[in-house]
Amino acid sequence: MKLKKIVAFVLLSFGLISLLAFSEKDQTNEIKAQKTLKRIVIDPGHGGNPRPKQGNYGASSKWIDEKDAGLAVAFKLKKVLEESMPDVEVVLTRTTDIFDDVRTKAKKANDARGDLFISLHCNDVSAIAHKEIIDHKTVTTKRKGKKVTKKVPVYKTYYTPNPAHGTETYIWGIGKNDEKEEAIGESNFVDSSIINFDPKDPAQRLAISLRTEKYAERSRLLAATVEEEFTKQGRVSRGVKQRDEKGIWVLQAVAMPAILVEMGFLSYPEEAQYISSEDGQQEIAEAIGRAVKRYKFSLDNKMNNGKPQAKK
Ligand SMILES: [Zn+2]
Repeated sequence: MKLKKIVAFVLLSFGLISLLAFSEKDQTNEIKAQKTLKRIVIDPGHGGNPRPKQGNYGASSKWIDEKDAGLAVAFKLKKVLEESMPDVEVVLTRTTDIFDDVRTKAKKANDARGDLFISLHCNDVSAIAHKEIIDHKTVTTKRKGKKVTKKVPVYKTYYTPNPAHGTETYIWGIGKNDEKEEAIGESNFVDSSIINFDPKDPAQRLAISLRTEKYAERSRLLAATVEEEFTKQGRVSRGVKQRDEKGIWVLQAVAMPAILVEMGFLSYPEEAQYISSEDGQQEIAEAIGRAVKRYKFSLDNKMNNGKPQAKK
């Protein structure tokens, strides 16, 4: 009798546990089906004071420095995103003028368990150097004990502003897929089926490589949409780019789709002034915000088998 009771209790408990586990699993599936984008990480590039040997201060101009432009647009973009998608949480990698190395930035993004990473930067190119002959002078040299005189040109170097301007959006290079796979594998929040990533396990490798491909596709889609939105505003778009050989470390190191937006050239006075203005920063934030909204809409559509989700 006693044994029967114990058996019955064990069976009942087991049944209850499996039932609970089942409904919990069901619930997570439901949440996943509803939310394609839960947390966006915005990374204002650079930051802090220039330090010798650090070499990572970013671009400077008479009007604004890259680190300040990144932070200003990040705050505006956060607001734009929160207003247009109230169910999405927005996290910034920095909210003050501090310098973090890229490893810290990537760790912050991964710790926040973001599912989209947007880094904000500005471009900068050197002025173009021109050499012009302005005079000639006579120089005397000795050759085999003999004095030789000859006329040589005198040059003057002058610089003109580099005409490069416009926006660019970067995604990580295909050549950096291995690094991206590693980042995804090691961040156990991405795939609950991979708790201990073993790079030698073929099944895990396959799962991670498929996920990397999916993230690359999503990053490319968002990058193209951002550039499209900039064009709609009348900006010059230099397109979606990849830096294959050198790579962009932070884009490979975050376990999520990731883009880096070059908002314009600080070396181009007209663009530097635009980027330094409140209106310019707001426009840039709105272009990126609209692109993210379109990106989310497209992911939601895909997840619901082509049936558009009701607007919330
Ligand atoms: Zn930069």
